[in-house]
Amino acid sequence: MVKDVVKTLKVRIKKEVLTTRKKERLRRITGRDTRIIEKYVRIIHHNRRKICTKTKKGKIRVHRGKLDELTLTTSKVKEEERRKNVPHDLKKMFPYCSHNEFQECRDIAVQLYEQGYRPNNTRPPIKRARRQLINAKRFVLVHLPKEKNNTLARWWVGIRDSLDTWKRNTPYHQKLWLPLEMSTFHQKELKKGRIKSLELRYKRSTHEWWVYFQLRVLPPPSFYPPKKKSSSSLPPAVLGIDLGINIPAAGVLLTPKKKLTSEEIKFWYTKQWNKINHRYKLKLSRLQRKAALNDQSGKKHQVYRFLSLLRRRYRNVKLSYIHQFISEVVQTIETYARRYDLFVVVGYPKNVRKDKGKGNSARKFRRKLHQWNFSLVLTLLRRALILRGFDPHRILTVEERGTSSHCTRCGRKVVRPVRGLVHCPSCNYTFHSDLTGAMNIARKFLGALFRPRGTTITDYLTGQRFSSSHFTVCRGLSHWLQPQ
Ligand SMILES: [Zn+2]
Repeated sequence: MVKDVVKTLKVRIKKEVLTTRKKERLRRITGRDTRIIEKYVRIIHHNRRKICTKTKKGKIRVHRGKLDELTLTTSKVKEEERRKNVPHDLKKMFPYCSHNEFQECRDIAVQLYEQGYRPNNTRPPIKRARRQLINAKRFVLVHLPKEKNNTLARWWVGIRDSLDTWKRNTPYHQKLWLPLEMSTFHQKELKKGRIKSLELRYKRSTHEWWVYFQLRVLPPPSFYPPKKKSSSSLPPAVLGIDLGINIPAAGVLLTPKKKLTSEEIKFWYTKQWNKINHRYKLKLSRLQRKAALNDQSGKKHQVYRFLSLLRRRYRNVKLSYIHQFISEVVQTIETYARRYDLFVVVGYPKNVRKDKGKGNSARKFRRKLHQWNFSLVLTLLRRALILRGFDPHRILTVEERGTSSHCTRCGRKVVRPVRGLVHCPSCNYTFHSDLTGAMNIARKFLGALFRPRGTTITDYLTGQRFSSSHFTVCRGLSHWLQPQ
């Protein structure tokens, strides 16, 4: 079964329209949390003999109940059961913090400690943990309608203020309303799932606060027909995909038909990306040269700052293109899967990269080869398909070595007269090089299936093994292995 996924959605708090009181409140909430977490870590470390245990695998586990006994005079039980005094009374140290707040900080501290964080007197306290986790019961998200004519913000989140406010000697919690900068993208994402919790974070570099929503996203409706139907009614097909350099990907669908038509050939091509990529590369190299020159004169800070900014932006742009590319591939696969009992095989070009090392090929080509993060692309594609109800054994990766250098008709070595074409000297056949790769990838998978003693098929990316009984339907495709 496919589990639902937890996604994070970042939304900026409109700092410009925050009142001074709210800013102060936010600053105290996030800053105080950091101090309490640090305190907790120190207490755990100090009492590690009493409250920590080691598991069989050597991992450290902190006993939360025992930690509470050391730190809190619990307020949730009856008067007579309360502890009179505890060694480290946190309520005395942080009088404005509520019980739930302490427990949230405790959980973060325990997590940090179990992951190996240790307090250190020479090291300044944790700077990154400025956050506050709030579960769904304790905040509301409000969308004001247009008619209300609200000029500050249309989206507001109301958080139960975790700082105690005292009135007539009893603490209570006000609601802290924060204006959000919500775009249409955010609204679309919010509709996809249910909000599980929310986190307040302070970003030091820009002096801004962000709200991180944790969304529990339900998997999209499965497009794949149910198993019983598919094995009987739909014809089998194997889609081979070759990830390329100039063209991001080419695909060939091998069906029970003996011939390839334009319907079974597919290119995924993003013209814009090549242009943008080129522009970023130019800018980066120019700045790098500048940085190297300035190194000698001593004025390097400004250039390095720009350089790191530009690198980050380039990475983000690239990631967004990868996501776009993957959604296009998934769409095509969806349309194929409605008509066929489909298996997808993707070539993993890791060893190609190794072969084309220094001295083996042109410098420009080598540079281009390393631009795509293949394993990321493949992992994302695999995840996207599995989320849509694709069985894990239906999306496989095979090693790509040698797939684009053999003829699709007779299987002999080919030559490349022009870039993008391959020509077979023995059977005089010319074909597109990326399609040759895609077709041979699909055939490599079929070949592994028809090996006399092959009982399992291994996925190259994850190392997962699948019994060949999953692939019995593919036996109808054996004609693609014979010379044509
Ligand atoms: Zn040939």
